[in-house]
Amino acid sequence: MTLIEGKKVAAEVRAELKAETAAFEAQYGKKVGLAVVLVGEDPASQVYVRNKIKGCEEAGIRSFAHYLPADASQKQVEELVAALAADESVHGILVQLPLPGHLDADRILALIPTEKDVDGFSADNIGKLALNEEGTVACTPFGVMELLRRYHIDPRGKRAVVVGRSNIVGRPMALLLLNADATVTVCHSRTADLKEECARADILVAAIGKPKFIAAEMVKDGAVVIDVGINRVDGKLVGDVDFDEVSKKASFITPVPGGVGPMTIAMLLKNAVACAKRAVR
Ligand code: NAP
Repeated sequence: MTLIEGKKVAAEVRAELKAETAAFEAQYGKKVGLAVVLVGEDPASQVYVRNKIKGCEEAGIRSFAHYLPADASQKQVEELVAALAADESVHGILVQLPLPGHLDADRILALIPTEKDVDGFSADNIGKLALNEEGTVACTPFGVMELLRRYHIDPRGKRAVVVGRSNIVGRPMALLLLNADATVTVCHSRTADLKEECARADILVAAIGKPKFIAAEMVKDGAVVIDVGINRVDGKLVGDVDFDEVSKKASFITPVPGGVGPMTIAMLLKNAVACAKRAVR
């Protein structure tokens, strides 16, 4: 069994980006710029935003952090996002979700131009992914593809099963695997026989949000198992896969923590650099 070391790969991606951002700055006389908008004081969101800003600094990306109070009005947030959309030094805009309940998130996100949508959440970017055209891909599934690539796991012709169909993980994950020529099955809470579906997978991706949900009997011998889940149990982070048991059967497996998680921010930074490069070409 090979452990897929996301932490190590993420560090490699960041080092490569540092070289790319330096080259960008040398050529165009400006830095790659990423704006991050946080509304309110949700503790988890604060940690994510802090890590994203730290990641920017390390990769040579200029970050523009905007903190608005929890009671910020729809107009205030919309005006900020519209200003960032018009700002040429900002190549990517990220609005940290979830937004406070009184705000209309869809209307706010709709103000991010496709070319600055570093999260790849816009209908335009999801449409491009569905059409297998170049665009920005959601960071977490994009990170999974990068892990597969760096471990020389080619999805072509393989049976891939994705458990979960959320817009930010499962759905784009399935499209990416399909675009990489896998034969893809997408499972969800209404899937009739989940165990049988999973047990057929050469590549199994779990994006469910239920600790240790994928048991050894659901996994084929020699399968590649990617665990996207992040669950907190008794103060510890646990994935959606029963790692101790499943790792005895898998050929490759990602740990939690240290697997897919660290890739998400690395791919966000990669997306920001790609947006900047597209803006100047
Ligand atoms: P989500 O929006 O809650 O989606 C969960 C998906 O799992 C849904 O499609 C749901 O099916 C399916 N599901 C739930 N119970 C199921 C069951 N019993 N059997 C089969 N399918 C079931 O979650 P998400 O945002 O995609 O995130 C999934 C996990 O990944 C979470 O643990 C989250 O914390 C983690 N995550 C990690 C990263 C990272 O950086 N590593 C990033 C994002 C998310 P229905 O559609 O039928 O409801």
